Formats: sequence, structure tokens, C-alpha cells
Amino acid sequence: MKTNLDRIKRDIEELSKFNATPGQGLTRFSLTAEDKGAREYIRNELLKLCLNVYEDPAGSIFGRRSGSDDNLPVIMIGSHFDSVKNGGNFDGPAGIVMALEIMRCLEENNVKTKYPIEFVGMIEEEGGRFGSGVFGSRAMAGAVSIDQLHSNKDEASISMAKALRDFGFNPEAIGNAKRNPKDIKAFIELHIEQGPILESNNKDIGIVDFIVGINEFKVILKGRPDHAGTTPMHMRSDALSTASKVICKIDNYAKDTGEGTVATVGILNIKPGAANIVPGEVVFTVDIRSKNSDCINEVKNNIVEALNTETVASGVEVEIIEMLDVSPVKMSEEIIKSLEENSQTSGFSYIKMLSGAGHDAMIMSTITDVGLVFVPSKDGRSHCPEEWTDYEDLQRGIELIYNTVLDKGEAL
Ligand SMILES: [Zn+2]
Repeated sequence: MKTNLDRIKRDIEELSKFNATPGQGLTRFSLTAEDKGAREYIRNELLKLCLNVYEDPAGSIFGRRSGSDDNLPVIMIGSHFDSVKNGGNFDGPAGIVMALEIMRCLEENNVKTKYPIEFVGMIEEEGGRFGSGVFGSRAMAGAVSIDQLHSNKDEASISMAKALRDFGFNPEAIGNAKRNPKDIKAFIELHIEQGPILESNNKDIGIVDFIVGINEFKVILKGRPDHAGTTPMHMRSDALSTASKVICKIDNYAKDTGEGTVATVGILNIKPGAANIVPGEVVFTVDIRSKNSDCINEVKNNIVEALNTETVASGVEVEIIEMLDVSPVKMSEEIIKSLEENSQTSGFSYIKMLSGAGHDAMIMSTITDVGLVFVPSKDGRSHCPEEWTDYEDLQRGIELIYNTVLDKGEAL
């Protein structure tokens, strides 16, 4: 291996020290003391390599390494360095460490590339503090306005604009974080899988071919609250009984449409919510994900149809409110091919797989060609203190992207 396992381990361990909740998992919210510590660590590691280190007005960190032709677009590598509340040490940092280690390897092996290579450490991907997820990449895509910086607030009502200013950034200049698509040739992210597929299939590497599309909607059913003892069954408008007839079909709708489509009812609220009252109102959510928009639409149409049938039968009113609609994203065919070839050359076992979560790669795909590599998560756990990836597994992912960067950057 050309990459260094000790350095990879040290980076993860050092970054995990910048933590607001020691002993209860990792909590590193954006623009806090912990953010500052991690930021300084990353900046120092980049500065040791004599890179052009800078931060954009959104607070993401960059380290640019010149190519033989500096007018060419960059190959960008990285991930995010914030965390969820009481999360783990790998979600985000795994990709940061990937990019740091690759920059070191390029430098110590005196590699010259035709295209410039750029490290990126993105801010606020999780949205843990300001509820504004994939923020760093959205700013790079030009999808953040100053108004949003004022309206995104943390629990203490501190706006993102104020937090950025307190950190020495200029929120008014947020538009300058936007990158010209012509200046980025490709973006490659490494992330932990956050699921059980690689481990259970005994594979080293997941090469993501699609990030799933998501449709999320809320269903409100209004029946009539009545006395549970005195209202005969045939005279009821029971919102829960109606809802349950539809909800129990959703599993099969998802299975029948195939292509790995999943559907989840994650919220179910019943009003008035008393043991002796017929449920007058039920609100539930449906979250449908698939790599194929047609599958999402099919599941949704089936649900809507079932709702119409059941509500007509029970005299319950139905209202559907759209919450989220994101199209599936296809990763770059060319980068996938390069990742596959390099996996084979290195003897890494891999599978092509879906990403069921968004990641910065999803946003970056709106401005450039994107590749996303997964490494195994122990027991599929993530967003919890138990989150773990073996350092050897992480190293294989880093090695793979290093070789792919040499290809894409056209090492001379
Ligand atoms: Zn993440």
C-alpha cells in the first residue's frame, strides 16, 4: 500500500478529540469550539504540505495542490467534518482523512499531476446545529442565500449569519462560495456505509452507482371522535382503522415494485389519543426511496389509490401534504469504471450499491461529475457512539481513491 495506516489512525483519533460530549459519542456542531479545534487540526495538516489553504465564506476548508496546468479544473476530494449529536468518529471524518492522506501521499511521492487536486472539508453536512443539512456543498452549488443564513437558527436562537461572523467569516459574501462548474472536473467522496450490506456480503468496498430519490409526504385523515362504548361499529368514522388498512399494504407495495425500493411510515399520531374515544384524526408520514423515480411514483400512486378507496368506505376525509421530493442521482459512469478497475488491480472486493442517504456528493452532482465510495460499518451502526470502521477497511477505501485520483488527475 502507498498510504499509511498509522497516519490514518492518528487522524481519526485526533479529530475525535474535538468533541462536546466525551464518553457519550461524538458531538461536533458547526461553528463551535469543537469545530474550531478540528478546523485548526485540518488546516495545520494541509499547511504542512505547502498547499494553498483557504476557507470559503460558508466556512468549508480547502487545500489546493497545483497541477502542471493550473488553468485546468480541479479534481476535488473530501467530505464533511461536523457530526450529529452523540454520533460516532467516522461519519464525515473518514472522508476528511481520505483526502488528507491522499494529499500527503502525492507530496511525499513527488507526484506531478496534470490537473490540480483540491482537498475539501465541508461544514454543516448533518445540519445538527442549524438544521441546514448539506450546507457546505449547497453553498458551493450556489444554492444558499443570505436570507437563509439569517433564518437558520440554533436552539439558542443564534443565526447562522451571526455564528459565521463570530468565526471571522463574512456571511454577506456567501455568494462567493459558489464554484463555477467549469473549475471542477470531478468530486470524489469517501463515506462510511452506515448500513450492513458490505459487512454482511464480506466486501471491502462499495462503489455507489445511484443515490436514491426520496419522496416524503404527510397523510392527514379526519374522521369523527365518538364514544368508544356507545357508537356502533357501522356508524363510526374511525381515522385509525382507515389508516391502518392502508399502512399495512405499504410494505408489499415497496417489495412488489422492486429495484431495492423502500417505504417507511415513521410517524403516526392519533387524536384525541384516549383509550375510550374513537380516533378522530390520524396523521402519518410516508418516506419512499428508490434509484428509480418510476418505482417511487408507483408506490405513491398505490398508496393514494388505497387511501381513496378506504376513505370513501369509512367516510373519513383525506389530505396529502408533500414534504420532500428529490430525484435519484446517478454517479459518473466514468468514475465508477475507474473505481472498479482500480479495485480489481488492488485486489479489493467490491460491489456496486445504492446510497440510501444523501451526502454532499448528491449536491455536488449538480455541478460536476461525482464518485462516492463506501467502506464497511461494523454491524451497520452509524449516528451513534458504537459507529466503527476498521482502519484497514478505511485504508483500502483511501488507497482506491488515491489510485483513481492519479488516473483522473493524469499523474505524469
Ligand atoms: Zn456523513
